[in-house]
Amino acid sequence: MLFENTREFAKKMDARDPLASYRSEFQFPKVNDKEVIYFTGNSLGLLPKAAKKYVDDVMKDWGEMAVEGHFYAEKPWWDYHERFSKPLSKIVGALPSEVTVMNTLTVNLHMLMVSFYNPTPQRFKIICEEKAFPSDQYMLQTQVKFHGLDPKDAIVEVKRREGEHNLRNEDIIAKINEVGDLLALVLIGGINYYTGQVLDMKAITEAGHKVGAYVGWDLAHAAGNIELSLHEWNADFAAWCSYKYMNAGPGSVSGCFIHEKHHNNKEMKRFGGWYGHNKQRRFLMEPEYDPNEGALGWQSSCTGVLAMAPYLASVEMFDAIGMKAISEKRDLITAYLEFVIKEIATEIGGNFEVITPENKKERGSQLSVLLHGEGRKLFDYLMKEGVIVDWREPAVIRMAPVPLYTRYEDMYEFGQILKKGILSLQ
Ligand SMILES: *Cc1c(COP(=O)(O)O)cnc(C)c1O
Repeated sequence: MLFENTREFAKKMDARDPLASYRSEFQFPKVNDKEVIYFTGNSLGLLPKAAKKYVDDVMKDWGEMAVEGHFYAEKPWWDYHERFSKPLSKIVGALPSEVTVMNTLTVNLHMLMVSFYNPTPQRFKIICEEKAFPSDQYMLQTQVKFHGLDPKDAIVEVKRREGEHNLRNEDIIAKINEVGDLLALVLIGGINYYTGQVLDMKAITEAGHKVGAYVGWDLAHAAGNIELSLHEWNADFAAWCSYKYMNAGPGSVSGCFIHEKHHNNKEMKRFGGWYGHNKQRRFLMEPEYDPNEGALGWQSSCTGVLAMAPYLASVEMFDAIGMKAISEKRDLITAYLEFVIKEIATEIGGNFEVITPENKKERGSQLSVLLHGEGRKLFDYLMKEGVIVDWREPAVIRMAPVPLYTRYEDMYEFGQILKKGILSLQ
């Protein structure tokens, strides 16, 4: 499609946008009395108005029924988490039995490591990506130490090539082959949080399995952003948070995936608790642990119903729209944003570089722009003008034109503000 950097063109795109009506289902913060241009849905998604109702429903049942709400609330609390299995499995490309929600992301990664990282002297190494999200780095380091190993021996980072911003899938696969028999686990972010790069999860999973390792994915930036096929890709496990692209609110509950092929293995190590126990017998308070079938068998504590309520509202919205429609708009509006940025750069001789891959198969709803010169002052200017972007040291602005609630006109408007900002700082 031929884009134009004009308000008229952007408005035409909005008029043709099949997802346009969803914008009004979200609440926007205001700056200078105007709704912001929100580019940080990759960090904390906006509030879906339906989430308030779902939370209110729980509060009402709690007030009116107290303990009886476990079984008699309109959506009973004792198995509230099971409401996610079906719709959430479609969002991540899994079977309903492979998906559940519990805890928060880093905690779930730790829980899954109990099952999928049992190092032996012959096989103890973990492959991850260089500069993984810090929580993942800390999680891996402390897991390795918990097993009495030295992170320097056990953790192998795949690095970017000199002068390149993105990882190469072939380098990850080469590293997997190089570590070979020593490799116990591959655990990488399916989408890199810094650059927005989407990795070839299918090929990497296959390569990991070929050398006899487990392969898990951190999908914090992927769930609700790109189409996934976790079951088909044969990933062993995955986990994601719900508050980024999935709009479930700060610190809301995490989703996780455990492949069907592990479901019958009741011997697999896990940290149990009463919510993971045989569902029909949970309240019999039996002494012997008997895990549920499927992902529900990795559940441990009771799951926070107040944290799940906004996530359920959001998951139902995603389910109604489908990832295909979301992906179509995502590719188009991301390409339009990229076009606008490049146009502005040409107009004013601006000096910035999009470090996110150009190929739409290798990116989701995020552009990371490396500034050369303008730096932090430009970020401050944008924020003051009601453009909510995200700043990462040393000089990267991350922008996510989330398809559910951003307009093409916002992209045009952003370009104008960007231009003014740069000119005023020169
Ligand atoms: C956002 C993010 C997290 C956050 O973890 P929490 O446990 O939810 O605090 C972890 N890993 C990655 C890759 C992330 O992007």
